[in-house]
Amino acid sequence: MRSVRALRALGGAVLALLLLLTLWPPAVQAQSRLKVVATVAPIASLVRNVAGSRVDLTQLIPDGVDSHTFEPRPSDVRFIAEADLFVLNGLNLELPTLRLINANAKPGAQVLLLADNTITRDQWVFDRSFPESRGNPNPHLWLNVAYARRYAELIRDKLVEMDPANADAYQANAQQFLARLDQLDQAIFAAVQTIPPNNRRLLTYHDSWPYFAQRYGFEVIGAIQPSDFSEPRARDVAAIIEQVRSSGVPAIFGSEVFPSRVLEAIGRETGVRYIDTLRDDDLPGPPGAPEHTYIGMMLNNLRTMVSALGGDASIFDTIDPSNVAS
Ligand SMILES: [Zn+2]
Repeated sequence: MRSVRALRALGGAVLALLLLLTLWPPAVQAQSRLKVVATVAPIASLVRNVAGSRVDLTQLIPDGVDSHTFEPRPSDVRFIAEADLFVLNGLNLELPTLRLINANAKPGAQVLLLADNTITRDQWVFDRSFPESRGNPNPHLWLNVAYARRYAELIRDKLVEMDPANADAYQANAQQFLARLDQLDQAIFAAVQTIPPNNRRLLTYHDSWPYFAQRYGFEVIGAIQPSDFSEPRARDVAAIIEQVRSSGVPAIFGSEVFPSRVLEAIGRETGVRYIDTLRDDDLPGPPGAPEHTYIGMMLNNLRTMVSALGGDASIFDTIDPSNVAS
């Protein structure tokens, strides 16, 4: 008798366990997280701010690696084959990566080209490093904060479309982040007013500032790096030295990603201050640090630039560089 009762009780317990297993995991957890691949660090940072921790985000181009000549590694194919969404700058910055995506992405995966959806063809800038003859416009839109704002909106809209279950979170994060970008944008305008007008001119090594210059009232008087990203020839260097002397700029700017002995030599030759810490796709600080963000990178650049050109950069201390969403 006792054993029959025990057996019946056991049967009940097994049934209850089976029922529990069919209901587990809860429906919300069963839905898989969106897998997002972003290319350069500033764009991955924009995605991180809007998405928070609700997507699985992979940054394809490591910090400090030259994005203009980056070729994906064979091991990157795994991330590409699994991704639901690719967020690229576009305007031909990441052509080898785009080729690999087209060959390996799963059916239904989407590609978001931010710059191509931010400006129209008549707004493309061609210049010394990105000549029209090569067909690739200058891709550095994100150093203009108004364009970075548009990038964040495009990212928000795409995440909401592809992952409506988390739409409220994406909207809320984006709202907070856009307000922070507006604060940065206004601070740049204010800081530029403190630079003597004659000094609002940029001579840089890597040619990443034309869209920034358009918005904030700088003149790009030149860029030193040739269009194939090699070092300039002796004849070019002589011309640049002449240009630096006649322009009277107090400082010339190099880039963290492209350390150049040539720029150093030009600085020595002309007696003009030479600063090599501007960044366009390399975030400051170690990963996880509060300043290791798009806004942190811009604050870093602006403090350097405004101080070197004779302005007051203190307004940038009022801006929090850290991610709005954890
Ligand atoms: Zn660049």
